[in-house]
Amino acid sequence: MTPRTTRAQRLAMPLARDVVRDLAAEQGGCVRPVQLRRTDLDTGHVEQVLIPCGHTLATVCPSCAERAKTLRAAQCREGWHLDTEPVITPDQPDDEQRMWVEHRAETQQHRDQADAAGHDTAELDELNAELDEEITHSGIRGNVLPNRTARRHRSTRRRQDAPDLPRRPVAPRTIGKTYTAPDGATFRPSMFLTLTCDSYGKVGADGTPATPDSYDYQRAARDALHFAALFDRLIQNLRRFLGYDLQYFAAVEPQKRLAPHVHVAIRGTVSRAELRQVLAATYHQVWWPPAGKISHDDAHLPVWHEASGWYLDPATGEFLPTWDGALDAIGDDDEPLHVAKFGPKFDAQGVMSGSRDTARCIGYLTKYLTKQIADCHQAQTDAQAAHAERLADALRYEPCSPTCANWLRYGVQPKNAREGLRPGRCTGKAHRREYLGYAGRRVLVSRKWSGKTLADHRADRKAWLMTTLGLSAIDPSRYTWEPVTPGDPDHMPPAQRLLHVVADRQKWHAALTNARARASGQPTHDLSATGRAA
Ligand SMILES: [Zn+2]
Ligand SMILES: [Zn+2]
Repeated sequence: MTPRTTRAQRLAMPLARDVVRDLAAEQGGCVRPVQLRRTDLDTGHVEQVLIPCGHTLATVCPSCAERAKTLRAAQCREGWHLDTEPVITPDQPDDEQRMWVEHRAETQQHRDQADAAGHDTAELDELNAELDEEITHSGIRGNVLPNRTARRHRSTRRRQDAPDLPRRPVAPRTIGKTYTAPDGATFRPSMFLTLTCDSYGKVGADGTPATPDSYDYQRAARDALHFAALFDRLIQNLRRFLGYDLQYFAAVEPQKRLAPHVHVAIRGTVSRAELRQVLAATYHQVWWPPAGKISHDDAHLPVWHEASGWYLDPATGEFLPTWDGALDAIGDDDEPLHVAKFGPKFDAQGVMSGSRDTARCIGYLTKYLTKQIADCHQAQTDAQAAHAERLADALRYEPCSPTCANWLRYGVQPKNAREGLRPGRCTGKAHRREYLGYAGRRVLVSRKWSGKTLADHRADRKAWLMTTLGLSAIDPSRYTWEPVTPGDPDHMPPAQRLLHVVADRQKWHAALTNARARASGQPTHDLSATGRAA
């Protein structure tokens, strides 16, 4: 008979399911595996296979997040010091034209992805229009896309001032310069940059302002909202200024003061003086309608007019100006709503291939990737919590995009307006606490960085594992895969799946240890790698 225990004793005992979950995580197994049914078409044999969830946040799945981070580090390392062009360019006379069209394709893809995710695409559309100009400029006839709809805010383009920078023709090479030492040794240095936003007021070592009342939260909020567009402009300017197709691997994360900053690994070098010059000339102007005066506070919100599908002013009964109308009303003497710029402070260091610096910098670049932006610096003190609160307040009513519900507060119908929009309740990611105003991608990688996609890097890793374990590749056409759903007789509940993950990981670890021992000529235990560890 089991001895009697008190309630307190029982509560202090670990919960079996938590132990299994912790064990799975400790062994690098996925804690939320997905169950698939695999049928071997040759033999008819059916097997249950657990696939990792692949989440990139450690709070959701520590093992998958860690694997995703390792993969990013591998991607960063492989591309940084490439000494041959990653993509073989066909020997055609129009390399430069090809390059501009490739850039255009890249931006189009970003734009379409943003569009599919329901984000605003105005800034990327603008960038596309600029690239179209470059394409025409390089001597290509016609447009890359047929029948592009006429851009609504033509005026915006006119007023996006050209940066005051010398402009060189951009050669379609992606590799930096090679230097030769007196002893004949050649080396090709690359760089690690850290770029920050401007100051919004003095902050202490804890990241909080000395005088919160004079800290410019509005500018901090707007800079964060437009940080991704600013970064794109910087890269474009650097490419024009340096005269080659500069490649980068960048990670965006918050500083202690909760403003975004970006770590950038670039292939090739730029001097500090040149970088300072390019940074000073790089800015992103936001040509949106004015959002300084509140015309409709929460007590006087515009009302939805069902028949027309527009919002109207409750006091006058007039329709509010539409988004396009409000843009057209921006006059030649008006100022942009916001001008995003990098701060004058930056960090730049040369990094040699394979050096200890490379590993250290890759550590910086991937350090926070498994965390939400806001979790990178958890508030420890009341002052820090109050600072985060004030920034969230500033972001609450700041328009995040042309479709933002907050435009109603400033008397403008948001783009694609629909019923039920309420200022302060926009569902855009940028307003959410965990994003601190930056809703863009955390890792920004140029297309010719390593010449491989993340899936290619993942396949490399898998191939290495298969070779190490002495397994031969499986012919994918031999199997069919189906998802297993809760109603199916062979469905495993989460707890059962976790037990399988733990068992699979143990076998897999043993097999790997054995394979390594075999490779180094040590005695091994006979254990075959079976199952597929999630
Ligand atoms: Zn997982
Ligand atoms: Zn919004």
